[in-house]
Amino acid sequence: MSQHLQHDVLVIGSGAAGLTLALTLPDNLRIAVLSKGELANGSTYWAQGGVAAVLDHSDTIDSHVDDTLNAGAGLCREDAVRFTVEHSREAIQWLIEQGVPFTRDDGDHEDGGFDFHLTREGGHSHRRIIHAADATGAAIFNTLLERTRQRSNVELLEQRAAVDLITERKLGREGRRCLGAYVLNRMTGEVDTHHARFVILATGGAAKVYLYTSNPDGACGDGIAMAWRAGCRVGNLEFNQFHPTCLYHPQAKSFLITEALRGEGALLRLPNGERFMPRFDPREELAPRDIVARAIDHEMKRLGIDCVYLDISHKPAEFVKNHFPTVYQRCLEFGIDITQQPIPVVPAAHYTCGGVVVDQAGRSDVEGLYAIGETSFTGLHGANRMASNSLLECFVYARSAAADIVANLHRVTMPTDLPSWDASQVTDSDEDVIIAHNWDELRRFMWDYVGIVRTTKRLQRAQHRVRLLLDEIDEFYSNYKVSRDLIELRNLAQVAELMILSAMERKESRGLHYTLDYPDLLPEALDTILQPANADD
Ligand SMILES: Cc1cc2nc3c(=O)[nH]c(=O)nc-3n(C[C@H](O)[C@H](O)[C@H](O)COP(=O)(O)OP(=O)(O)OC[C@H]3O[C@@H](n4cnc5c(N)ncnc54)[C@H](O)[C@@H]3O)c2cc1C
Repeated sequence: MSQHLQHDVLVIGSGAAGLTLALTLPDNLRIAVLSKGELANGSTYWAQGGVAAVLDHSDTIDSHVDDTLNAGAGLCREDAVRFTVEHSREAIQWLIEQGVPFTRDDGDHEDGGFDFHLTREGGHSHRRIIHAADATGAAIFNTLLERTRQRSNVELLEQRAAVDLITERKLGREGRRCLGAYVLNRMTGEVDTHHARFVILATGGAAKVYLYTSNPDGACGDGIAMAWRAGCRVGNLEFNQFHPTCLYHPQAKSFLITEALRGEGALLRLPNGERFMPRFDPREELAPRDIVARAIDHEMKRLGIDCVYLDISHKPAEFVKNHFPTVYQRCLEFGIDITQQPIPVVPAAHYTCGGVVVDQAGRSDVEGLYAIGETSFTGLHGANRMASNSLLECFVYARSAAADIVANLHRVTMPTDLPSWDASQVTDSDEDVIIAHNWDELRRFMWDYVGIVRTTKRLQRAQHRVRLLLDEIDEFYSNYKVSRDLIELRNLAQVAELMILSAMERKESRGLHYTLDYPDLLPEALDTILQPANADD
């Protein structure tokens, strides 16, 4: 039997953004945090590098703001950047208070009296990345999860995949409020009805739309697709960041080689040992990610090679093992000793810069519905995310969303009379092969036609194909019981279409969006905002 559940706050997503929000809300609220798989299955757990913040006394807010604006290629919203950076120190302080075991300073550089080691990454003009060795995401996630488990008012619900949001408009009622969500309980196979005074999308990014990605399997853009169907605008979805250096090995499924290696002096080389970054950018290996990814893509296509090499073997072995224990171990498992030999690497889809349009409190266009973390579009990243600003965005916006919810609690009552999910017209699918086939097809044409280098013709081809897929998926969705695979495919195809439409609207090359048909920058930098047909009832 499907259930009806009630929460003051329903948080969809148990990554950095969702857990921070749950922990920041007062403990007299009944909060549920959902994860569609195990709690650790988001990108947060896999983050290696760290969190950018102004912590060193020789660093300044203006410098962090300027670096972010530069990386964003003229498209960042300066107020969002300043807001995020100005709140960076207090967000890190909060993480330290929660007990995150950031790496302490060992006195090997000028730290200005700060107790923690700060590293440097591409695009940053200062050392400002606080980290826990090279497994920062796991350290943050484990700490926040442990804290959340200590809170009796927070229920952690695993294996719950949100299918769609429930809104007043969808129910044909007066108003534009979000009232909850339908959620597939994967343990019972039933779709439950979650009533909530406030609903938070903290569902992460959509990099799984591409064949090669550094992201875990669940990065399917569920929150973006659900928000779009609920009537929210989405912004700048053409800007997909490709991480330049994922391990290239047949058995290594999406393992990323952190940018911090280049920060600490690793060099990119061709198979003959020749360096190539100096030919592409004066900042060489520390150029922003899009430039490095495009340079690698260019060299791979020019020479017809399968990968390039990232080499840190010229640094002392102890230094490498101490700073990069995870990368060292993982590569060793594949027979690569990074203290002795270069690492084979390729670019892979890594970060979704666009998302659900929100304001500084994380509020979307639908009342009571917030989007935080990678699923949101705050204006911080512009046309290109600067390394380690994304985790920072999760913490800063989760905390401001929590404050906004608290300020509005008195105005909102628990929604009543929500209809149960109607499964009377659907049957069990006997054709799951269709889902698997469509997954593969979608991710392959997105990689080929909407990848690092685009053309109008390729985008048109992708658009044609995604329409066919969406029709087929809609039919499937109307006739068969929902499963996690079907929910994800439906959302991925929806987000793919939005990415293609956004890319077609941009008649220039800027930041991460590079098209051979419009190689130049337009004088005016404008966001690509898409509005769903059902937005203005
Ligand atoms: C390999 C890797 C390394 C990275 N390194 C860094 C770094 O060093 N510094 C940095 O700043 N950023 C880094 N990033 C980016 C950063 O980790 C992510 O942007 C950030 O963790 C996103 O956090 P989030 O809370 O928004 O989402 P996630 O951590 O991705 O969590 C998403 C959550 O939503 C849940 N979910 C999704 N859909 C549904 C649904 N339909 N129903 C229920 N639950 C759902 C998932 O189960 C999961 O719990 C890295 C990313 C990767 C992949």
